[in-house]
Amino acid sequence: MNTVATRMMISPPKYVQGAGAMQQLGEHLSCLGENAVVLADSGVWGFVDEAVTASLSAAGVKLTKETFGGLCTQSEIDRITAAAKAAGADVVVGIGGGTAIDTAKAVGHACGDIAVVSAPTVASTDAPTSALAVIYTEEGAFERYSFFTRNPNLVLVDTALVAGAPSRFIVSGMGDALATWYEARVCVAANRTAMAGGLATGASLSLARLCWETLMEYGPQARLAAEQHVVTPALEKITEANTLLSGLGFESCGLAAAHGIHNGLTVSHRVHGMMHGEKVNIGTLAQLVMEGSSTDELETYLRFSREVGLPTTLAEIGLADADREELLAIGRASTADGETTHNMPFPVTADMVADALIAGDAYARAFAKKHP
Ligand SMILES: [Zn+2]
Repeated sequence: MNTVATRMMISPPKYVQGAGAMQQLGEHLSCLGENAVVLADSGVWGFVDEAVTASLSAAGVKLTKETFGGLCTQSEIDRITAAAKAAGADVVVGIGGGTAIDTAKAVGHACGDIAVVSAPTVASTDAPTSALAVIYTEEGAFERYSFFTRNPNLVLVDTALVAGAPSRFIVSGMGDALATWYEARVCVAANRTAMAGGLATGASLSLARLCWETLMEYGPQARLAAEQHVVTPALEKITEANTLLSGLGFESCGLAAAHGIHNGLTVSHRVHGMMHGEKVNIGTLAQLVMEGSSTDELETYLRFSREVGLPTTLAEIGLADADREELLAIGRASTADGETTHNMPFPVTADMVADALIAGDAYARAFAKKHP
């Protein structure tokens, strides 16, 4: 086996973002195939059906609609793969949130690497650009990462839909994106191999940094725009940060404890109502505590989180009275073999995760008291 340490960066070949972009879906799809299976959950179909049907019809692309069940599980992937094969599809499109998109990627792979398009209707995660999917159990707990040979051929984001969604989605996306820089710099400092399969490039590290800077500058403005359901330059910038910058940043730099602890948190049924980025934000705080971050850095994180409305305390993610046993169970899942928690530059144990969750929570509560 070749043991040369190489640097690697991977990305989708085309990224399209703007208000009304969904109306161009057919036009972009026609470069990739002529027979599309499009999956979205029933709620999403309710507001994209017209634009999708009209634009594919105008572009001469055959359309097979699938109603997505809501979770990216192996059985859902198998079901839609069978439907795509039966339709003879040469391109699969996932429309909606991260789970619909991850399912489309897995279906594209299972169909023999047909073209894949991700069309997020919310800016809630950095899933749309990556060549991997997060597979969940039927109960909604993290099961495994599934890696594919390439990134989606096209990522298309309609910011009018992003602005139309409840603001909690873009805020949660900011939580996912906020972790990107903190995790990237850890992986780079420790010379870790990223999800992309190599060491980070300066280019991907710069994108991770730009992601963080964009959040700090425009996050609070974007939250307010999203609450009013309007598209503004700040909302456009945060949509790009949450989707493109965070996506390229995490995949080609690496994840660390913030996401490992997120995955650990999913073992507790009490957090299942929380969104991905909200749980990640608790993981970020625990990672910062574990690293011995300066007061200044912790307070920058806490100020930002509170200003955009991200949870920082255990109570805010449904773990109000968690005892040490419950936090230790989360710690054990966070430090399971293969977890990205092990990208930290020091060994991490379940006890350390529980301690960091407790200390982070105490700090966040004290900060909230000081800055009501
Ligand atoms: Zn994430």
